[in-house]
Amino acid sequence: MIVAEKTIFYKAVGSEIEVFNQINQLQLPLLLKGPTGSGKSRFIEYMANELNKTLVTVSCHEETSATDLIGRFIIKGAETIWIDGPLSIAVKNGYILYLDEVAEARPDVIVAIHSLTDHRRELFIDKLGETIKAHPDFLLVASFNPGYQKGFKELKPSTRQRFVALSFDYPNPKVETEILINETGIEADIAQKLVTIGTKIRNLTELGLTETVSTRLLVDAAKLINNGLPKRLAVHVAVVEPLTDEQETIQALKDLCDLMI
Ligand code: ADP
Repeated sequence: MIVAEKTIFYKAVGSEIEVFNQINQLQLPLLLKGPTGSGKSRFIEYMANELNKTLVTVSCHEETSATDLIGRFIIKGAETIWIDGPLSIAVKNGYILYLDEVAEARPDVIVAIHSLTDHRRELFIDKLGETIKAHPDFLLVASFNPGYQKGFKELKPSTRQRFVALSFDYPNPKVETEILINETGIEADIAQKLVTIGTKIRNLTELGLTETVSTRLLVDAAKLINNGLPKRLAVHVAVVEPLTDEQETIQALKDLCDLMI
């Protein structure tokens, strides 16, 4: 059987690949900071693939608890059996555990990963009374969106200081255009126009958007256009509508975009 090698497209925007190779050698925990849709997940998928490592991703939300990560006892017939959670599996097997949006998780998640983020590199499973030493290949990577406005959770300075951190932002226009072309096969001049729209809206800080146009939204618009949707409609539904629910702002942004594509 021939197994086709999976290639993952990732366009480096800074020194992140070099940094990752180092943290991999030194077994250091890594924090990816940056807005949604800026390439954090894609980067980690790419690195896992390059380094031939298994990636386990947990998308954290407000209900995500240490038990979800470490494991739990379940009742099976007459027996009670222990099931490892994704963190225990990754620690034992030397996988990369990616905790996406770690600040959203419950505080006990941060407590659980504490001893994995320093020289000990061990996981304490309180329900089993066991401490496991991490496999030498185990890596802990977390992401965090510092741009969130009030109502969203912050990451404590003492937690942040346990990680080496890389900042992600939207790529410069030339790189972002290349990403759109590579991701979707869209014509260069349309890709450029989409990137110009993205850049323009990102600069409209007076709109006070919680999250602005991400590379992901531009990729979605390019996909729709490539698939035959009229360009303006594609921009309306993929770029403008996801940004806000305020009708006035939506209309103003649609008018603005129509002038650019
Ligand atoms: P995040 O994890 O930061 O929310 P993603 O990694 O899911 O964002 O990125 C969203 C999409 O944007 C990806 O699926 C990919 O199409 C595109 N993308 C963003 N940055 C890059 C990059 N540097 N190289 C390739 N694709 C990228």
